[in-house]
Amino acid sequence: MIPYATAAEAEAALGRAMTWAEAAWYQYSAAMPDCWLHCHTTFILFVIYTITPLPLVVLEQFAPSVVLPYKLQPRVRLPLAASLRCYVEAACFFPLAVGFQLVSYHAAAKILRTRMGLPLPSARETGAQLMVYSLLEDYLSYWIHRLLHTQWGYEKIHRVHHEFTAPTGFAMSYSHWAENLVLSIPALAGPVIVPCHITTQWLWFSIRLIEGINTHSGYHFPFSPSKLIPFYGGAEYHDYHHYAGGRSQSNFAPLFTYCDYIYKTDKGYRYHKAKQAKMFIFCFVLNCSMEQLKSLEENYVEKGGSNAFNTGKKD
Ligand SMILES: [Zn+2]
Ligand SMILES: [Zn+2]
Repeated sequence: MIPYATAAEAEAALGRAMTWAEAAWYQYSAAMPDCWLHCHTTFILFVIYTITPLPLVVLEQFAPSVVLPYKLQPRVRLPLAASLRCYVEAACFFPLAVGFQLVSYHAAAKILRTRMGLPLPSARETGAQLMVYSLLEDYLSYWIHRLLHTQWGYEKIHRVHHEFTAPTGFAMSYSHWAENLVLSIPALAGPVIVPCHITTQWLWFSIRLIEGINTHSGYHFPFSPSKLIPFYGGAEYHDYHHYAGGRSQSNFAPLFTYCDYIYKTDKGYRYHKAKQAKMFIFCFVLNCSMEQLKSLEENYVEKGGSNAFNTGKKD
């Protein structure tokens, strides 16, 4: 709740006129309790999680020829029920999350020290904070993910997430509840260590969710703007981790590639890519199709575990 009765009072406190964004923020949030603004995070994430994976899931079901050239594992077609099951399981958590946010609001406010008033953060401040949050999350998630691939971590917890060897956007949060809980720590680490405005927090969690949906989408588009981000892993990078299966010891980092490079956990992936390059030349010479190429690729992957969700049809 903004502690000014009128916009003129707010401008007097700022010592300048409000920008259009600040005026809009004042209109929206002036009379709204802080705990409701805090709960917006869950509502925003619910809307993003509902909408973002839909286009690819619908196209895969009803117009597969449009997206098939960009599918990372074109021989696997997941049934609609698999996506639906993931969505329903994740959606059940959202009302619980709102309840938890309301109950824990005062504790969270002390830990996160989130600003909700005026002025709004500048683009430079927001960009710098998002960069710090990304680096922190990537590093912490890398190590948590590696721990989840120990025998105990995998069998007791992480096995659920790896039920999809060919993931889909809705499978992004298809995990054991303990995994979802523990992996929220790296995402929260940035805003706890470097407190921000609530709008930056919304942006951060939205970007993370969209990025997670993208890396689990099962599609790699050559024109994706994410290709411009240095050291960004993306869909192809994480898809390989799922493809290799439970015993995969490659590609643990969620965002960037440098942790896997530094700690030498990208060997399987690099071997796979080198084989892929050789086969591409081989296919070019023999005039094979990309379909044939992708089926050959499957011979050059780390040995993965078996998979309950590979009920997806292999053509
Ligand atoms: Zn894993
Ligand atoms: Zn995954």
